[in-house]
This record gives sequence, structure tokens and C-alpha cells, in this order.
Amino acid sequence: MTKHYIGGNWVSASNGATTDMINPSTGEVYGEIAAGTVEDVDLAVRTAREAFDNGVWGKLTAAERGRILQRISNKFLEHHEELAEIEARDTGKPMTVARNDITAVARYFEYYGGAADKVYGDTIPYLDGHFVAVVREPKGVTGHILPWNYPAQMFGRTLAPSLAAGNATVLKPAEAASSSILRLAELATEAGLPPGAVNIITGAGSKIGAALTTHPDVDFISFTGSPEVGQTIQKLAADNYISCTLELGGKSPQIVFEDADFDAAVKTVTAAITQNSGQTCSAGSRVLIQKSVFNEFMARLATAFEAVRVGNPEMDHTCGPIITERQRGTVQGFIDRAVADGVKLVAQGSLDEAVNPKGFYVRPSLFGPVPEMHELALEEVFGPVLAAIPFEDEEDAIRIANGTDFGLVASVWSRDGGRTMRVARRLRSGQVFSNCYGAGAGIELPFGGTGKSGHGREKGLVAMDDYSNLKTMVFKHD
Ligand code: NAP
Ligand code: MG
Repeated sequence: MTKHYIGGNWVSASNGATTDMINPSTGEVYGEIAAGTVEDVDLAVRTAREAFDNGVWGKLTAAERGRILQRISNKFLEHHEELAEIEARDTGKPMTVARNDITAVARYFEYYGGAADKVYGDTIPYLDGHFVAVVREPKGVTGHILPWNYPAQMFGRTLAPSLAAGNATVLKPAEAASSSILRLAELATEAGLPPGAVNIITGAGSKIGAALTTHPDVDFISFTGSPEVGQTIQKLAADNYISCTLELGGKSPQIVFEDADFDAAVKTVTAAITQNSGQTCSAGSRVLIQKSVFNEFMARLATAFEAVRVGNPEMDHTCGPIITERQRGTVQGFIDRAVADGVKLVAQGSLDEAVNPKGFYVRPSLFGPVPEMHELALEEVFGPVLAAIPFEDEEDAIRIANGTDFGLVASVWSRDGGRTMRVARRLRSGQVFSNCYGAGAGIELPFGGTGKSGHGREKGLVAMDDYSNLKTMVFKHD
């Protein structure tokens, strides 16, 4: 794994440099990846450009592209357990979660493989003696910069629609979790993907992320990660006259009214913040609870939190470790500051006694009532920390729910259909669930944010729009 994957070949960094891979469950170094350079980015982009302009890939019909994507999906399923093990070792996630992620990446390729030849254009009534057709064309070379929380899933989420639309791609995974992506790319080639359609360059974002975004041969950037880096990417993309999608995380609220089904809500609210140890952009990190039932609901939530166990991937508990030592420090810092500020720590999950003490573990923590202006109520922790906030009535719930800079996912728990509808329509959020929650669920469902959560939509058929340009053609005839 010490090399990039470019044009279907393993290629060392131009200066031969590598970076350590660290197992978050043990804190130990277990391998190396290439530490990419600006020259490597240039090689990857030129390779993609060549595949698009002159290679086998750029000449395929949409149906042929679709068939290849379907074959890639099957290939991933054939290697399901192997891929899940790679993902679990690199990220520390429980095996069950890693297995779900591999099922998801296969599903992305199945879904967009089926969509590839169903992208239609339009005809438009115009002047007499004219025929107007609007067709969708691939953009060319698309760049993809990914985070470490769901590497395999995001390989599918951003690459599959772009490939289905006919682009060639260059992807930079996060340094902290690159290994499943390298193997997925290799397997895609084995499944028949022509060389140069997918190119992977590993290394530090500060060095090669900017080079990818500003490369003159890159036509679009898909970024998932922090709001700060996302903002930088958008500025760099502007310098390059290209557009981008930004998927930047959230502070997603679940609103629990007094008439909610408490059993279902407790289970889902707990799962939505402990899934992947809270390292999910769409984690349900706030629970807004109607005052009349606050104590009762919190007592049930506390019991559920106390039952959450944390361990290494093989233990397969609900939570694994946090991805890096630095990120663990960030999450623990939020917990420690909240305690120091006198916010009530209501319940915590527990570590399996057998975990390696050098792993990057934190205890899942439930706080509440959290003051509305406290950082725990407003900022993304990106760890298994849930902030409970009481509200009076519908109006108050909407005000608090919409009271952060983010707007990614929300959920309304109530048996009153009218209320659910009223509240759902006023939430500033890219997705709203009712009596359920889907952190990352549903490949068919358009997904993306507003405000500091970013912009653009991934998943669903609509994702292919961003990966293509419209061409309007006007034919004059007698
Ligand atoms: P990040 O710094 O935004 O990293 C995301 C990606 O951007 C990585 O591939 C990273 O590369 C790259 N990158 C970093 N600096 C860059 C730059 N100057 N130019 C171009 N690319 C650059 O996120 P993080 O530090 O890993 O996590 C920090 C916070 O981001 C988390 O606490 C969380 O709030 C948020 N986050 C959100 C999501 C999400 O799904 N929305 C996912 C992960 C993190 P390297 O890491 O390889 O250097
Ligand atoms: Mg790792």
C-alpha cells in the first residue's frame, strides 16, 4: 500500500516519501502509504484527462459504462469480508459497521450502474424552423477529496455517479484512512474498469488537496470534510473557475414531542449518535425534548447510553475508537469543557475491559439540559456526545432546531401528523425524517446541506447533475 494507484498501476511518490498508517484500536503503526507530491497530482490528473479524451473509457457508451459499474459492484461483494477487515483495521470501526459500509459501496455501484444509460436530455419549443436539443455531457475530469469516517462508502458515493455520467476521476482519501480505497480501486480495474478512469493519490491534504483543486485540467471538485477546509476548497475552486459540492457536517436535531413513541425514539436517538462513534456528518448530535416529558425521556435515554459498549473491531460493540489521537483529544476536550462548565453529564457508556489502553477511545456521553448557547448545543463534536435541550412548544422547537449555523438532517418524533408536517416544513435542513432517522442511510435519497453544512446534493439520481454539463444545441432547418 506504499504507492498511489494511477492509470491502473502502482506508482511511488515522486520523491519516494511515505507516511505511517496507524491502527486506532491499538495506536500502533501497521503500514505505510505514499506521501503524495504536487508532481503526483499532476500525473494523476493528466492520466485521467488522457483516459477521458483519448482512452478506452471516454469512448464507451453509457450502457457499457453501466455494465462495468455493475460488475464492479459484484466484485466488491465477492471481496466483502476482506474489504470489511481492511476498513475496520484502518478506521477502528466495529466489524458490523465495516461490513455495512462494504455492502453500501457495492450498492452505490449497482445503483449508478443502473442509472448510467437513463440520463435523458430535453427538447425545447423555439422559433419556427429551429430544433432545440439539450443534452447532458460529462464534465471531464472530476476531483474528489474525502474524509476518514466512511472511506469505502464515500468511494461509492462520489465516484459511482461521476463515472456513470462518463467522467474520469482523481480521488484523494484522508491520510488517516486510505487503505480500503486503494484496494477498491484495484478491484475496480480487475472488474474491467479501463485504466485512468479512477486514479487514487494519497498524502496530506495541505500538500496535495490544493494542487488537485487548482489543477487546470480538473473540471469539478467534490469535497467532504470540515467547514474550514471546505471554505478553502471553494475559494481555490473559484480561482480555477470550477464549481464544487461541499458536504461539511452538521449539528442535526431530533425533536421529541410529548406524544412520541418513546421506545422507538430512545433506540433511534441513541443509535444516531453512537453509530461510527459519532463520527458521522449526519449524526443526530442534538435531541430536543419537550419540557413536559424531559425528565422521563432523559431517564430512558440514560439507561440506553449506559448500555453502550466501546471496543475494538473484533469485539464488535456499538462503538469503536476515534480515528486519530488528535481527533480523540478534540472529542474529549468537548466532554471535559462541558463538565468544567457545570453542564450535567447524565450518563456514559463503558469501555470493554480488554481494549488496548493505547487505542484512541472515549466514553459515549449524554449531557443535559445543555444551555442553548453552550458550545455543545451549537458546535459539531464529531464524537459520541449527545446534547439534550428542552423546549416548550412547536414554535420553540423550530427556533432551537434552526438555531445553529448548520442544516443537514433533522427528525420529528410525534404521533400527530399535522404537527409533524408543520414542523418538518419549517426546518432548515437538507433532509427531514419523521419517526425515524437515517444517518447516512438511503443511497436513493438526495442528501446535502445548507449553511455551514455545505451545498450541492449527493446520492439519488440528482447527484449525476453535478457531474455533467448541459449543452443546448439549436439546429435551423428549412
Ligand atoms: P478535514 O481537514 O476537512 O479533512 C477532509 C479532507 O480534506 C482530507 O482528505 C484532508 O486531507 C483534506 N484537506 C485538509 N486540509 C486541506 C487543504 N488545506 N486543502 C485541501 N484539502 C485538505 O477534516 P479532518 O481534519 O479530518 O476532521 C476535522 C473535522 O471535520 C471533524 O472534527 C468534523 O467536524 C469534520 N468532518 C466532517 C466530515 C463529514 O462527513 N462531513 C468528515 C470528516 C470530518 P488529510 O486529512 O489527508 O490531510
Ligand atoms: Mg488509519
